[in-house]
Amino acid sequence: MRQPAFPPPEPCWLPMDDGRAFPAGRVWCVGRNYADHAREMGGDPTAEAPFFFSKPVTSLSLEDTVAYPPATGELHHEVELVVALGRGGRNLDEMAARACILAAGVGVDLTRRDVQAVARAAGRPWDLAKGFDASAPIGMLKAVGDAGLPTRGPIELEVNGRVRQQGDLGQMILSPVRLLCRLSEEVALKPGDLLMTGTPAGVGPLVPGDRVGARIVGLAGLEFRIVPES
Ligand code: MN
Repeated sequence: MRQPAFPPPEPCWLPMDDGRAFPAGRVWCVGRNYADHAREMGGDPTAEAPFFFSKPVTSLSLEDTVAYPPATGELHHEVELVVALGRGGRNLDEMAARACILAAGVGVDLTRRDVQAVARAAGRPWDLAKGFDASAPIGMLKAVGDAGLPTRGPIELEVNGRVRQQGDLGQMILSPVRLLCRLSEEVALKPGDLLMTGTPAGVGPLVPGDRVGARIVGLAGLEFRIVPES
């Protein structure tokens, strides 16, 4: 057995409401899973299916402050239902996908919208628009088992007390279970994987000093403040 060249990275443990910790692995994301958001981004939800991308595990943040990231002048909020997997597998059917869901929480997919626009126009990857440090603030995970995942009800985000995004989980084009089935056709899902399930309309800019509150029916809320670039 070789000795490690340096100490291995600290694992990322996310708190669960039942007292356990969720060892986070990969952070999968889906684009354009709410029709009204697809349209506000210039897409046509009837012509284009939702699609996947990912953020590194270092995107996850449990802090109550998020430093305004470098290399952007247009940081956007996207409130999302996050599902956390306790099991994995490939080519899952709906029953198997449902059985993978261990917990759920509220997350925000922070996005460098200006960087994303340049990448989109040039046909380049989105990684630096989506996967920067602390780009995925996440709240307390609720252990929901395979039956308790909320499938309808409000999902909303406010900034400084004013509602910016207001949708309903029932507006998703593909449900979390359907998304997991699709994704498992492309990769072997693993325990520890997280899936951010897309955002409703109303995405918009954040600036230092903004207080962000995100809520989803039945789940613990998420609050954080944007502070100046460190
Ligand atoms: Mn998103």
